[in-house]
Amino acid sequence: PRRLKAGQQVTLTFGPQKNRKINGNHNGHINSANGNDAYDPAFQSLSLQASVDRKVGVKRGENGEFSSYEIKRELKKKMVRAGGAIHTSLAQATIAQGVPNGVLAEMVGAFSYDVDFQRDIQDNDTFEVMFEGLYDDKNQFVRNVRVAFASLTLSGVRMPIYRYRNSNNMTEFYNEKGESVQKALLRTPVDGARLSSRYGKRRHPILGYTRMHRGVDFAAHKGTPIKAAGNGVIAQAGRNGAYGHYVKIRHNSEYATAYAHLSRYKKGIHSGTRVKQGEIIGYVGSTGRSTGPHLHFEVIRHGRMINPLSVKLPSGTKLAGKELKKFLALVDDVKRQYAQLPETTKLASHQ
Ligand SMILES: [Zn+2]
Repeated sequence: PRRLKAGQQVTLTFGPQKNRKINGNHNGHINSANGNDAYDPAFQSLSLQASVDRKVGVKRGENGEFSSYEIKRELKKKMVRAGGAIHTSLAQATIAQGVPNGVLAEMVGAFSYDVDFQRDIQDNDTFEVMFEGLYDDKNQFVRNVRVAFASLTLSGVRMPIYRYRNSNNMTEFYNEKGESVQKALLRTPVDGARLSSRYGKRRHPILGYTRMHRGVDFAAHKGTPIKAAGNGVIAQAGRNGAYGHYVKIRHNSEYATAYAHLSRYKKGIHSGTRVKQGEIIGYVGSTGRSTGPHLHFEVIRHGRMINPLSVKLPSGTKLAGKELKKFLALVDDVKRQYAQLPETTKLASHQ
């Protein structure tokens, strides 16, 4: 490297000095300053890994002069498959299978839109991954190149994702339908509803005083279906004081959404249920402190209510037409390749 960075490993070696004059001793015998036999080392060599495939250094020669050298490693790209059960965390599970940290980091990043890694992982959930790595001549892992495919099976629901470079030359992960894993929350979780009250200070329609409205209201007929604003897990579904019948969805470690005054819940919606964006979770009502049928909708970021209309999330893309065909062909290729690779139980790893 042109510059040394913090964390760069440099190896220095020291060894006995030759023909060094100490206390008038001329025969090459090494003495310490006070005349006792002791090790009095001199700088011998320095080496560092300049890049993953190149080691450079300087070393002292027989006559005491320094010379530089370079060792190049032959690195090969290799596709590797790994998988296993998750017991405490995805990190623990991948490390147990010898999956490199860079691969884990890429998986966590890709799944973080849909998975809250602190809370969604249950004992005996599983992971699968296929990645390309650089390996040296001793078959030791050197560096992650790319994750081609990854999947988590959480509470029985399998979520496979595939890396794909789209026509905008952007590399993203997509599910098997060609939907980008990056997705925005739905701004209007009820179809055909009218925004009846915005986020911010307002005069309370029942209590009369000015207070902060920490959500947005959508007026709709009683019984109008309410949709999950994003993929996630139901954190709460039940009576909640002034909110009436209430549902809260945790989307990831950052965002949650809440839905209040419901007339009823969709069958099967209870704490722990995994829902997809757009899936019906309940129906508009007027339960709790409410003047008429409407949905009170909240977006919660890091535990605080924020203005749902100001949420800026990267908007997800869905592949279509020719591009979707191209992607689906890649999915078939990846599946074939994955099936052909050995089911590695423990990868040789070196990081
Ligand atoms: Zn409201």
